[in-house]
Amino acid sequence: MNTNDFSIRHIGVDQLDADEMLRTIGVKTLDELIEQTLPSNIRLPKPLDLPEPMTEREFAEHIADLASKNEVFTSYIGQGWYDTVLPPVIQRNVLENPVWYTSYTPYQAEVSQGRLEALFNFQSVITDLTALPLSNCSLLDEATGGAETAFLLFNERSKAKTKAGARKLFVDKEVFPSTRDVILTRCAPQGIEVVLGKWQEFDFSGEFFGAIIQYPGALGGVHDYTAFVEKAHEADIKVGVAADLMSLVLLTPPGEWGADVVFGSAQRFGVPMYYGGPSAGYIACRMEYKRTLPGRIIGLSKDRLGKEAYRLALQSREQHIKRERATSNICTAQALLASMSGFYAVYHGPEGLKNIARRIHSYAGFLAGKLKGLGYKLLHEDFFDTLCIILPEEEGFMAKLREIAEECRVNLFYSPCGCVALVSIDETTLPEDLGVLCHIFASAVGKDSNFNDEVGEHTIHIDRKYVRTSPFLGYEVFNKYHTETEMMRYIKRLERKDISLTHSMISLGSCTMKLNAASEVIPLSNPAFCNIHPYAPADQVQGSIELLENLKELLATITGLPAVSLQPNSGAAGEYAGLRTIRSYHEAHGNGHRNKVLLPASAHGTNPASASQCGYQCVIVACDEHGNVDWEDFMKKTEEHRDDLAAMMITYPSTHGIFETNIIDLCKRIHDCGALVYMDGANMNAQVGLTNPGFIGADVCHLNLHKTFAIPHGGGGPGSGPICMTLALAPYAPTHGYGVDFEPIEGNIVAASPQGSAGIDVVSYAYIRLLGTKGLERATRTAILNANYMAVRLKDTYGIVYTGATGRVGHELILDCRRLKETCGVDESDIAKRLMDFGYHAPTLSFPVHGTLMIEPTESESKAELDRFLDVMQCIWDEIQEVKEGRVDAEDNVLKNAPHPEYEVVSDTWTHSYPREKAAYPLPFLRENKFWINVARVDNGFGDRNLVPAFCACLAPTIEG
Ligand SMILES: *Cc1c(COP(=O)(O)O)cnc(C)c1O
Repeated sequence: MNTNDFSIRHIGVDQLDADEMLRTIGVKTLDELIEQTLPSNIRLPKPLDLPEPMTEREFAEHIADLASKNEVFTSYIGQGWYDTVLPPVIQRNVLENPVWYTSYTPYQAEVSQGRLEALFNFQSVITDLTALPLSNCSLLDEATGGAETAFLLFNERSKAKTKAGARKLFVDKEVFPSTRDVILTRCAPQGIEVVLGKWQEFDFSGEFFGAIIQYPGALGGVHDYTAFVEKAHEADIKVGVAADLMSLVLLTPPGEWGADVVFGSAQRFGVPMYYGGPSAGYIACRMEYKRTLPGRIIGLSKDRLGKEAYRLALQSREQHIKRERATSNICTAQALLASMSGFYAVYHGPEGLKNIARRIHSYAGFLAGKLKGLGYKLLHEDFFDTLCIILPEEEGFMAKLREIAEECRVNLFYSPCGCVALVSIDETTLPEDLGVLCHIFASAVGKDSNFNDEVGEHTIHIDRKYVRTSPFLGYEVFNKYHTETEMMRYIKRLERKDISLTHSMISLGSCTMKLNAASEVIPLSNPAFCNIHPYAPADQVQGSIELLENLKELLATITGLPAVSLQPNSGAAGEYAGLRTIRSYHEAHGNGHRNKVLLPASAHGTNPASASQCGYQCVIVACDEHGNVDWEDFMKKTEEHRDDLAAMMITYPSTHGIFETNIIDLCKRIHDCGALVYMDGANMNAQVGLTNPGFIGADVCHLNLHKTFAIPHGGGGPGSGPICMTLALAPYAPTHGYGVDFEPIEGNIVAASPQGSAGIDVVSYAYIRLLGTKGLERATRTAILNANYMAVRLKDTYGIVYTGATGRVGHELILDCRRLKETCGVDESDIAKRLMDFGYHAPTLSFPVHGTLMIEPTESESKAELDRFLDVMQCIWDEIQEVKEGRVDAEDNVLKNAPHPEYEVVSDTWTHSYPREKAAYPLPFLRENKFWINVARVDNGFGDRNLVPAFCACLAPTIEG
């Protein structure tokens, strides 16, 4: 055994274990099993042509080499990304801590109280700083926040506006170009007309339903929008405001001057720029909009025994429930980054934040004074951190300025007209840096900078009327943990409440919770990748560019689709981007009338939601009793909608975990209708190296790099959802204006940053380079082996809902729990909760089939772990039989009362009809490794009726009164 070979670290099963598992399954070799699983007509004729695998050591050297090709200049570019100090206590204990980064979206509240609290803190930061009562627990970025806001305003139009057919949205010229462009791309297919203009000149007449402005503006100006908002409201127009979170510490928050929705980015709350992402977007709104607010909301509720507990609230609003009626397609968001930003606020507290914001502002003001002294004019007298400097009308002045700045290793924002430069001061700016800036601007006009060090830290340089007077973050949690010891223990205390991959396998079907290897995530802390602005000049970031280009090439090889865009920040964002690409392709080919998308009934909820976001109508195709697309219905629907069909969206292997045998015919038929095939790549873990979307006949697919390609799930994000497509589609793929364009650019823009979550993509790059062709193929084969092993072991008890023609499953399996309810009153969610008593996270609950559990073991789990999980499932099966046969009470039993929290197990008043030991230690292994649960089963109704989405005065005592 070559212990340098990374594949033996990533793949949990070795040859000996595999042989035993194959015997259990009843096949001689893994080849035989794969033959029985994948239809032969879809198998790739030869192995993927990828570079040889690297050892972990070699990869570390390779990545250091790439990092050395990046030059980290001091960035004053701004435009939505600012340098920030990630507090080391958060870096070490959250960003670099697998308990935080490997956990799943907190659907199972009882084993997620830690991250639920962290996200609740984030929501509280957002509601307090914006002065609006309701916030979700993150969006993908600021620009998509703008698009979500546009739709929220549209969906919340008054009755009168709806009746009048109001479809116009005003977007101010001082909204960041990336935000504007994402709004334009998203609104076009919905028939929403975006009107760009200056807010000062807007006359409020016409069929406008909403207006979006920015505070401070993209050119740095802080404006008094009070009268604007008043007039808008008089005209029945709702107002969305893009706001810089740090500025709201110092400036009167939009909620106080009437904003209906506020959105933006929380990046500068301790999250590195990462060459554009990931970081958390935010959105806050009036309480009345709670049903249309996109994304997830954490609420405070109670557990079965009355203890306070957090949970996801108002889940029925979520896209996967609403499907084609959804008003957003967001699923994976930015949980890890939102948690980090929440912790940043906890660590600094209101006073610390004020210090930071005042210092930033004060330094900007100092610089403004100096620049004026040098003879420069500023566009705005009222600013927070960004100065818009009007440059002398001298031929070549900007080029000269830029040359001097780059000699000083400084990046500014240079406008394309050559007439202004922008400087955005941030948390990391030091008095010496101001000296350098003064020197740059002085040299450009041939003067001496006369810099002295007397830089004020608390001087307010703007009109007093803009200064915030309302207190914020007075709640206990933001005023307690300001030393590193206290902070470290607070983070640890939350962390102990959560199940992550550091505890046990997380067998969530469709989510691919595989190993996120240390070698893959270590580069996320490398300053040469962290501290890069997405608009930094290309010659400074050759390392990042090379890395991303390499990654694109690898993904093209793996998918068999040659053109790749890394812009989408999640799987659902990829679906939307892919469909938007298809739409533009059809429009360019005179087929703009094609407006229908075919979807199998089993499709993931984001599929229909993304199709709707693209302005498409969904046509649902039935599934047959084997879980495949019903061929007859498929033929009927394709015939019926032949001329209107834009695309079919299909997941392969299907969400039922089955490789359909007629997939190639299906794709052919769609093409015959003049439509295109969109493949949802969430199940790529069953394909890599064995088959691929290009080979099967798809035109475009997205990849969930945060599933198959090892980016950690982060408790609900970050994600990365690149799309891979044919060359025919490539001209319509996402593009970007790189922020320099103050006029809208042509094309589809789907994210704030040109390369989306570039920062996190290094993980997938590492994953592919470490495994190489053979390792990737073995990973896929092992994922299929593990799933089939579990299917064989579980089929005689629970039963498997769908198997393929030869009785095999793909890389996941669906356990049948539907009959239990009638026979003994136990349902799939009781099983999910009981698993927690054994230290396991539940499999996917009731998706894609109601009343089932979907298990995806992944290749990273060992046979020992699979066996332990199977023992647990057997033990639970036996407990179900006790209920069924009346040997235990029908209500007071270990299943119905699960999970059993520590505080109940040790309480003096144990009242259950079974012993504590059966509740807490049902199997011997638990004596060695018990995960103690913090709360009892969380009430699923309570949170919706009394939604408490953030700390508020009624809930927690405030320090500032
Ligand atoms: C996870 C998943 C998605 C959505 O991906 P996100 O990154 O969460 O947006 C779409 N389709 C399927 C089948 C999935 O499993």
